[in-house]
Amino acid sequence: MAEKITAYRFERLDETLSQLNQEDCAIIAGGTDVMVLHKSRRGVPPKIAKPIVFIDHLSELKQVYQHQKDLHIGACCTYSELLEHSLIPSALKNAIKTIAAPAIRNRGTLGGNICNASPAGDMLPLLYVYNAKLLLRSVNGERTLTISDFIQGPRRVGRFHNEILTEIILPSVLEEDAHVVFEKVGNRNADAIAKVSFAGFIRINKDRIDDIRFAFGAVGPTMVRSIDIEKKLVGKTIPLAGADIAQVVAAFDQIIKPIDDQRSTAAYRKTVALNLLRYFLSRKQYQPN
Ligand SMILES: Cc1cc2nc3c(=O)[nH]c(=O)nc-3n(C[C@H](O)[C@H](O)[C@H](O)COP(=O)(O)OP(=O)(O)OC[C@H]3O[C@@H](n4cnc5c(N)ncnc54)[C@H](O)[C@@H]3O)c2cc1C
Repeated sequence: MAEKITAYRFERLDETLSQLNQEDCAIIAGGTDVMVLHKSRRGVPPKIAKPIVFIDHLSELKQVYQHQKDLHIGACCTYSELLEHSLIPSALKNAIKTIAAPAIRNRGTLGGNICNASPAGDMLPLLYVYNAKLLLRSVNGERTLTISDFIQGPRRVGRFHNEILTEIILPSVLEEDAHVVFEKVGNRNADAIAKVSFAGFIRINKDRIDDIRFAFGAVGPTMVRSIDIEKKLVGKTIPLAGADIAQVVAAFDQIIKPIDDQRSTAAYRKTVALNLLRYFLSRKQYQPN
């Protein structure tokens, strides 16, 4: 006989938070990571040791709205919903289109990608360069963390067991004056986990770099970003001089430390990551998108 487990599906967020405060539960949004993580052999239901609480239907977690120039995205918005939304920046939509196939995009959520904290999570490089802030709620109130403080390592996040990630905030993203790209290298253009990924953000003012950010995925335990290296390029004229590009690439060569695994080799990952960076920095011009 199949084992029974307790599952909760409350109508409102406050009821859900109250249950989470009383009992340590496994949160399920779209379930596309949870079900794989807990899968058993064929034909046997997944084994989840804790009671389950479903959150994907909660309307409080599915809003997308603008507040001043910031974009607020509900943690339980699915990828398909975000692809349809007019406020979502095109770079984010391009990244979403590389995730899995439509069936998974109909279930998988942005909040799930963050809380799963995979080194190869496709939404993460862009969220790092957008300086994403995360709003967490519990019965005790709210707190906001930067994404780089929240994600601590592979599948490790700074969430208390009674908290839910409610919103992802992208500060100033609706100013629309930056050129932003996302590149993913996998076995195929879609439905493949990244071997390497890269996000670049650049804002130009009168031919000079006003702001520049980049982050790499799948080449370390979490996203690789260096604000110190970025700062060295601020104020430089576009197109960048070959020596400046070489210096930045050499600096990342020191800090990117990928591993060999079933998807790729460390050597391939590092070579491709540095090529993506070199390509991004070598452009003659950048158009806001
Ligand atoms: C076939 C397949 C292909 C895939 N392809 C890709 C791909 O190309 N790129 C990619 O990046 N990922 C891929 N994934 C992984 C997955 O689809 C994504 O990471 C997705 O965003 C997870 O979202 P979810 O809502 O399904 O998360 P869930 O599985 O529901 O949850 C994931 C984790 O986050 C926690 N959690 C979820 N939401 C919250 C919240 N709001 N507050 C607190 N904790 C929360 C859960 O407890 C769990 O630990 C794939 C998965 C499958 C099965």
